[in-house]
Amino acid sequence: MTATNEPSFRESVDLMFNRAASLMDLPPGLEEKIRVCNATYTVRFGVRLRGDIHTFTGYRSVHSEHMEPVKGGIRFALAVNQDEVEALAALMTYKCALVETPFGGSKGGLCIDPRQYEEHELEQITRRFAYELAKRDLINPSQNVPAPDMGTGEREMAWMADQYARMNTTDINARACVTGKPLNAGGIAGRVEATGRGIQYALREFFRHPEDVQKANLSGRLDGKRIVVQGLGNVGYHAAKFLSEEDGSRIVGIIEWDGALYNPDGIDVESVRQWIVKHGGVSDYPDATHSADGAAVLEAECDILIPAALEGVINLTNADRIKAPLIIEAANGPVTAGADEVLRKKGTVIIPDMYANAGGVTVSYFEWVKNLSHIRFGRMQRRQEEARHELIVSELERLDRYLGDAWSMSPDFKSKYLKGADELELVRSGLDDTMRIAYQSMREVWHNRDDVEDLRTAAYIVAVDRVAKSYRAKGL
Ligand code: NAD
Repeated sequence: MTATNEPSFRESVDLMFNRAASLMDLPPGLEEKIRVCNATYTVRFGVRLRGDIHTFTGYRSVHSEHMEPVKGGIRFALAVNQDEVEALAALMTYKCALVETPFGGSKGGLCIDPRQYEEHELEQITRRFAYELAKRDLINPSQNVPAPDMGTGEREMAWMADQYARMNTTDINARACVTGKPLNAGGIAGRVEATGRGIQYALREFFRHPEDVQKANLSGRLDGKRIVVQGLGNVGYHAAKFLSEEDGSRIVGIIEWDGALYNPDGIDVESVRQWIVKHGGVSDYPDATHSADGAAVLEAECDILIPAALEGVINLTNADRIKAPLIIEAANGPVTAGADEVLRKKGTVIIPDMYANAGGVTVSYFEWVKNLSHIRFGRMQRRQEEARHELIVSELERLDRYLGDAWSMSPDFKSKYLKGADELELVRSGLDDTMRIAYQSMREVWHNRDDVEDLRTAAYIVAVDRVAKSYRAKGL
């Protein structure tokens, strides 16, 4: 739990912003304009369920409209409150600027424990919430485009998109009103895995720079690195799965709401996920040691810590005991401003949320573009590309015959080279490119400025500078 004397989540984000802004040369008025949240709408609505009227409270906060539409997920959780959505909306502004997705920042939330409701009840509640937001243009393809977050996924996005379409029957771009939809309802291949995939690409890029790896007192590559992950939901599951299955990392700890699993030899992520789906939590999972005090495993010996559940989990009560030399913030705001300072002094390298979990919004951007262009990526080029590759392959085959035993094509070259990219490959390629370029823009500031000690401050400087330029271009 966060220490009571720590600032709130929004104050924490503001403190981090201020730290970076103090190193920039912004006119004070513009600095204030960028920091503040433009508007937060609170709605209370009733839904008749099980014979009674139940009242729900929801929020949609718009932090910055320097670019429109504004973008940001909708969270379903009991702890949702105005301070939290405002903090998350601000982070969205900076995140979109850092990874160059052309959006302002927004975020929404509904105070609800989704586990307490049947599917048809959740649909009724979600549709009603979407109705309340859509009628105020807080869901709209050109003004405000939500996406999934904690407690929501494809299913909820499909309900929201359909609700918007019912209310705007002649809007040809209705599908672009939310992202993270299922493929058959206007979604895009690779969106579900996107945030976790982005964590993998971010770590791969980090490990491509030996000086950065050394700053974290680590060496080598991702192969064999011991990882603890908190939260095996959408983001944590995909990140842990890809890192263990494709990069040779070892997942030694998994922390969930009902305790943690630990096994120094590595835990099979897929099998834990299946266990959670069946039993609701990690308790009694057979192939690892279970401890009821999950949060204590954040302090376990490991190389990389991936908090991928909620905010504020690394705070003044435990920061000095965190042993991981490298933390990648898959969740939003998992490290409080106070803990950030403690860890910075200790030399822990933190890959900040604003960059680390930007894979989701990046692929959401691709989905939005796909919806507006009304065509799947790759549909026009794929076969033409394959035909051109065929030409080269047939020439190489001629050479192969001519040279006899002296040279031959590698066995799987032909099939690999001939295959034109499908949507999933294009999405992954676009995401990889985005994560690499954004990391490089952050590290340039980190390495080239003596007054910038950490990646988070560097990320804020890059992002805030872009937002400032955008406001200036508008004459503000
Ligand atoms: P999710 O609901 O799919 O998963 C959250 C997981 O955390 C669940 O498995 C839940 O059981 C677990 N959890 C809840 N309380 C916990 C506790 N006290 N200790 C340990 N585990 C706990 O949510 P998600 O979409 O994976 O989002 C996780 C984080 O990533 C959030 O901070 C969210 O804002 C951020 N994020 C998500 C996306 C996205 O595309 N989904 C994008 C960017 C950032």
